[in-house]
Amino acid sequence: MPAVADILIPLALDTAYSYAVPAGLTLAEGDVVQVPLGPRETIGVVWGLDERASGGNLRPVTGRIDTPPLSEALRKLVDWLARYTLAPKGSALAMALRLPDETALNEAPRIGVRAAGKPPARPTVARGKVMAVAADGTVRGKSALAKEAGVSLSVVDGLIDDGALETVALMPEPVALPPDPDHPRVPLSDAQAEAARALIAPSRAETAAGETVLLEGVTGSGKTEVYFEAVAECVRQGRQALVLMPEIALTAQFLDRFAGRFGVRPATWHSGIGGKRRERLRAGVAAGEVSVVVGARSALFLPFRNLGLIVVDEEHETAYKQEDGVHYHARDMAVVRGRIEGCPVVLASATPSIESRVNAQSGRYRHVALPGRFGGRPLPDISAVDMRLDKPERGRFLSPPMVNAVKTTLAAGEQALLFLNRRGYAPLTLCRACGHRYQCRNCSTWLVEHRFRRALVCHQCGYAERKPEACTECGAFDHLTPCGPGVERIAEEVAELFPEQRIVVLSSDFPGGAERLRQELETVAAGDCDIVIGTQLVAKGHNFPHLTLVGVLDADIGLTSGDPRAAERTFQLLQQVTGRAGRGERPGRALVQTYQPEHPVIAALLSGDADRFYEEEIAAREAAGLPPFGRLAALIVSAEEREKAEAHGQALARVADPPLGVSVLGPAEAPLALVRGRWRFRLLVKTERGIDVQSYLRDWLARGPKPRGNLKVAIDVDPQSF
Ligand code: ADP
Ligand code: ZN
Repeated sequence: MPAVADILIPLALDTAYSYAVPAGLTLAEGDVVQVPLGPRETIGVVWGLDERASGGNLRPVTGRIDTPPLSEALRKLVDWLARYTLAPKGSALAMALRLPDETALNEAPRIGVRAAGKPPARPTVARGKVMAVAADGTVRGKSALAKEAGVSLSVVDGLIDDGALETVALMPEPVALPPDPDHPRVPLSDAQAEAARALIAPSRAETAAGETVLLEGVTGSGKTEVYFEAVAECVRQGRQALVLMPEIALTAQFLDRFAGRFGVRPATWHSGIGGKRRERLRAGVAAGEVSVVVGARSALFLPFRNLGLIVVDEEHETAYKQEDGVHYHARDMAVVRGRIEGCPVVLASATPSIESRVNAQSGRYRHVALPGRFGGRPLPDISAVDMRLDKPERGRFLSPPMVNAVKTTLAAGEQALLFLNRRGYAPLTLCRACGHRYQCRNCSTWLVEHRFRRALVCHQCGYAERKPEACTECGAFDHLTPCGPGVERIAEEVAELFPEQRIVVLSSDFPGGAERLRQELETVAAGDCDIVIGTQLVAKGHNFPHLTLVGVLDADIGLTSGDPRAAERTFQLLQQVTGRAGRGERPGRALVQTYQPEHPVIAALLSGDADRFYEEEIAAREAAGLPPFGRLAALIVSAEEREKAEAHGQALARVADPPLGVSVLGPAEAPLALVRGRWRFRLLVKTERGIDVQSYLRDWLARGPKPRGNLKVAIDVDPQSF
């Protein structure tokens, strides 16, 4: 009988705490328990058990909680995550232990109604309609019944009071119906079939169990159908599959495609999922009843019982990196979980990350490539508009060739997408009388005008103020000038140019929330819209069959930053967005407005020679010792007072003492120096490959001054922007 249990508590704590196991309570590693912590009770997970020790003087475990225990694989993943990211182990555990809150557990049970076998005391026409529908004896939800009968809910309520209808508790809806791997489906092309065979083969071979495969193919090549085959094979073997997607790509369109292949929609997991459903899904996954989960990055921490495959779709997406709390990259963690579980991991992308490309070239990952687009459809023809020569009119942003291309497209009855990765109306507001620029009071950012909301908004912290009538600095009227375009301003210009056309603006500001946005995306996909103006929200993952022209309004936006990943990011984004064109019957083309058509990124995009881009970029990274050829880590020191943050950064730098192969840069102001009222300074650690950057960081931080008061030091291993 174990006497002492080490309990890891999902708070920012580095180690597990010891508790006594009371007589009569049998615990196993991974069990979720309730324990006292200070004056309160909290939950934790059994991380270790010591049979011989005596827990005599320790506080006892209160009891076990009825929720799936954390499997050994998941506990290993938590240990790994904490060690790699240097996050407190308890914080890493918190990711794997998202229990429902109390309100969710107290949700009302679902109630249905059916005919009670006696007629209503006071018959009316409306009541007659309800009773006619209910006559078949089936149990329906109240509102479903009212809807079917074409009456209001109060009529149904009246009949319940009357005793003509009786209420019954409904079985909870199943979290997910089982996907059918052998559901009739469209035949694969030869290239797809070959790629699917290559993907599936290793999951059978014992030796290749933990292998990672890079599935690469241009936009529209049919990668989804290919990895669906791997999912199907996994389900046939009675194992579970996890498909990770960037949250933004978890669209109804994708879920319908899944349903087309497997007969049912998959179980989904994302940040918006409600407490009760979340717990039921966790339980279903832990019991092995849910065989496929499609989810955003946090799905990686679900307690799968028998995981047989992980797919990371759009593996290059920056959204996979969590930038607060535990700084982890879901793609990398998927590879780790695959290794722990002994299951294959498929990374899919049209524009893989440099890291994955290098791993594929070196043979660490297997490379499966799909040549060309599905059905031999051509890739869009991409050409540049040199903005130095083809200038738009004053105060306008569409060049004459762009306007003509839109005209031609519309005349052919086709759809155009104008892409600008900037929300709002204008990125900067300037007073022409005194020169004042409107800045956020909490951040080092310009306020972005949102004309629809009549506000100036900070895109960093959400701070918003009414756009003033007169300059708040000098009082001048009519001198506040919007500088530069956002999508709202492009919409204004396009509406003047094409007053007869149906135009929609799609960005994360879309009014009416996710549901309205989903409907709008469907409208676009159905072709019931002529011109789409959008941010990166529309650049990725969507299939718009009527779209034949993509106009990129400012291809240079991402290229000017000092970030060494800027080239990769811009190339990926431009490839993705131009790849939206011509996915249907008709071929597509893309027109790219740029001031530097000779820039290597733009040149590679125009020539369609992605391999050349990768070769050059990989060579440049290698020469500079940048990832994946060297390693990076960042320390972000932040405080409410600028001096305090800077001084702490300097004190850390003084004891950095980097060994051979390690260099430490900074402290320097972070690219965004002020965010939400906190000043940020950054120290950058650059090491040669093969150096244990975690143990260096740990030793260094132990030597340095301890953060006090509101000062914080965040650690970001493998920072995505630097
Ligand atoms: P990718 O993910 O590589 O961009 P998709 O998987 O979205 O490509 O496929 C591109 C288009 O081709 C989609 O419209 C898809 O429905 C269609 N498609 C792919 N494979 C097939 C197939 N075997 N039969 C019919 N249509 C297919
Ligand atoms: Zn702000």
